[in-house]
Amino acid sequence: MSVPIAIVEKVTPGKACDADRSLTELLYHTEMASKVASHLPKKYMGLADEEYTARILAAKAKLGTKLVILGHHYQRDEIIRFADFRGDSLNLARNAAEHPEAEYIVFCGVHFMAESADILSGPHQKVILPNMSAGCSMADMAPTDDVLQCWDELQAIAGVQGQVTPVTYINSTAALKAFCGINEGAVCTSSNAKAILAWALKQRPKVLFFPDQHLGRNTAFAMGIPLDEMVVWDPVQPLGGNSEETLRKARILLWKGHCSVHKRFTVEQVREARAKHPGIKILVHPECTLEVVQEADYTGSTEYIVKTVRESAAGSQWAIGTEINLVNRLAKEHRDKLVFCLDPVICPCSTMYRIHPAYLAWVLEEMAEGRVVNQVAVPEQIAHWAKVALGRMLATV
Ligand code: SF4
Repeated sequence: MSVPIAIVEKVTPGKACDADRSLTELLYHTEMASKVASHLPKKYMGLADEEYTARILAAKAKLGTKLVILGHHYQRDEIIRFADFRGDSLNLARNAAEHPEAEYIVFCGVHFMAESADILSGPHQKVILPNMSAGCSMADMAPTDDVLQCWDELQAIAGVQGQVTPVTYINSTAALKAFCGINEGAVCTSSNAKAILAWALKQRPKVLFFPDQHLGRNTAFAMGIPLDEMVVWDPVQPLGGNSEETLRKARILLWKGHCSVHKRFTVEQVREARAKHPGIKILVHPECTLEVVQEADYTGSTEYIVKTVRESAAGSQWAIGTEINLVNRLAKEHRDKLVFCLDPVICPCSTMYRIHPAYLAWVLEEMAEGRVVNQVAVPEQIAHWAKVALGRMLATV
């Protein structure tokens, strides 16, 4: 559905207003409408791997330059081998924008990534998510209506009203990126969170950071902001579980969300890796807890992890705290180094795993016949405001 621009423009940054109810409904319905899925036809179920491969390659060849397949680093090998580009969510969205000749962009990742690709790609391009149930559990922890409710509650507190800049991690819905665009906030990624948080604190004295509390906390802590100036906003409690006084004092308000993959890593795993492999380097993603990040040698985004291992010396040893498909691939591609996952129990991102070759074969064969299934299309006005928030990020870093 589309959001009438007049309604969006009526929203005063940092203030509750008459249009709030309409905005709530429009942003909320955008979130739901964009996830309408088609179901995998039975004829694609249970085929042999070779058959999926043959069908994917045939459809890919038929579509030629009309098609670009993007594969996120966390995708399984059976998918990543068909990708024209692999990378993290932002780089892949940029890849989409850099290939205007491609009419179809098949995003092998999760829903919010496909939305970002749709926002940044041209109007003639269609973005397809092979399986629409490939969401992100972290993004789902910040439903639009809960964030709008939080915003309303904050704006009703004297001393907090008008004092908060909203910042959303790129792992969030397009509707929340639009919310940040409307309310003079910005988007950040795990590689530029520090610069965006610094920018946000120059705009207003407080920041509401969502959906990942760990990225927010790790970043703010690394910037020298003490933990007692941070509070967690729990959306199921009045005032997020805080008092008005606490919220007046806090500088960083962290949404109570997390990544189920990165939250699994523990300090004990770090110590065990060090004990078993003296001299090993611990490299973790900033979605891990503060305790794990503090114990690690290096912390950085998915791209940073890939680059660090790639550029390290032969014979170096790495215990990595991130998604298992990426760690296993790094281990295979760098056999001259010791690379393993900090967590001895396999921990794939279960939603990324929903992109199975059966879905890829299905959407490509449909496309080759001129039919588009599982398109992710962000309504124009939502895309406009999300782009405003993304633009603030790009202008800052
Ligand atoms: S790894 Fe975590 S943040 Fe990334 S898509 Fe999976 S659940 Fe979401």
